[in-house]
Amino acid sequence: MTTPLVRFAPSPTGYLHIGNARPALFNWLFARRHGGRFLLRYDDTDLARSRPEFADAIAGDLGWLGIEPDLVIRQSERLPIYDAAADRLRAAGRLYPCFETADELDRRRKRQLARGLPPIYDRAALKLTAEQRAALEAEGRKPHWRFLLEAREVAWDDLVRGASHVDCASLSDPVLVREDGSYLYTLPSVVDDVETGVTHVIRGEDHVTNTAVQIQIFEALGAALPAFGHHNLLTTASGEGLSKRLGHLSLRGLRESGVEALAVAALAVLVGSSDAVRPVASLDELAGLVDLAHVSRAPAKFDEHELESLSARTLHQLPFDAVSDRLEALGIAADEPFWLAVRGNLAKLAEAKAWWQVVRGPIAPVITDAGFAASAAALLPAEPFDATTWKSWTQAVGAATGTKGKALFMPLRQALTGLEHGPELAALLPLIGRDKALKRLAGEAA
Ligand code: GLU
Repeated sequence: MTTPLVRFAPSPTGYLHIGNARPALFNWLFARRHGGRFLLRYDDTDLARSRPEFADAIAGDLGWLGIEPDLVIRQSERLPIYDAAADRLRAAGRLYPCFETADELDRRRKRQLARGLPPIYDRAALKLTAEQRAALEAEGRKPHWRFLLEAREVAWDDLVRGASHVDCASLSDPVLVREDGSYLYTLPSVVDDVETGVTHVIRGEDHVTNTAVQIQIFEALGAALPAFGHHNLLTTASGEGLSKRLGHLSLRGLRESGVEALAVAALAVLVGSSDAVRPVASLDELAGLVDLAHVSRAPAKFDEHELESLSARTLHQLPFDAVSDRLEALGIAADEPFWLAVRGNLAKLAEAKAWWQVVRGPIAPVITDAGFAASAAALLPAEPFDATTWKSWTQAVGAATGTKGKALFMPLRQALTGLEHGPELAALLPLIGRDKALKRLAGEAA
């Protein structure tokens, strides 16, 4: 195939949450998997609700996930292109003016429903004579513009759902242009997909009907069709949809709570697939796991506890290189042995600070038996320490004091770390070093 170009097209009217990060990830991973490019398009034609600060926040949140767009466009800067396309549709008789008010439409819908008819727009505006139209305009009424759908079935081979079709005879002609001349989402999206050369439109199932309508618009504009894929939607554990207003599931909220971005990404795209949800070390690894054809068609349920557990398991397998910058930002000038020693004990990366304190000191040792601690100190080998030091030392301490198991290890752990639980002491002891270990065994804060 030619180099794929995919796009993620959020409206900057709020923060991204885990549900609407999914199309971003599915697109990004598709691009990675197929050597393609990724376009970030802000669907900001709704000037009243779109805000530059939300656009910035979206870019920041995508960056946190590891998504760096190859190009970025804003629909609000491209209005003349949409005007030209709308004119072409008008000239072709596919975009027609309508003058009904929202109230009128509502009453008409209710009448249709009362008569057991589907509430489809009746195309009354198409029957207006030139005089009637002029009279309405003279009243000061401004038209909104509808796309004239062909009453036929539109079919496509969906990247996720396979053979798909929608009968457009059962749809209302969609409004493409509002009374004030501003565009709804439908037309600019098609025009941009054509103009930017998008090859694959990957988005949520909530857009299946839009796809049928938009395929007719592509065709009316004489443009080649991209491929379409519609992934399942994410619901809460109880099956409700995720709304933009669910603050704590916003990417910012998750980030602030210390959840790993890679865990968010892995859960977001694996939760609905036949592949088990599992930790990954990079988005490239994840790209290798995600095949759109294997994404389940059933709704995917999001479970916060699963995310927490996946986040911890993600940390446990991350190589030092993947975290060294973030450790530094936490004030931890750590090296690889420190990371390898502590990562398995972390639920959140920030907890590494406490272990850094244990390694660097000072900490308050807990001495439960000063005589035992003194015997152990006397047997501590000379440096250099390595991964075998702990074993040979504790064997010697056990033999000399007649202790074993917990009675041997717990007082040493408490003396050396001030705590009852923690990473393997075989790994920590070389990091603590002989000098600090002796002081701690003597009960000194070190
Ligand atoms: N702005 C649309 C949305 O957020 C984009 C849908 C699409 O991908 O075409 O739903």
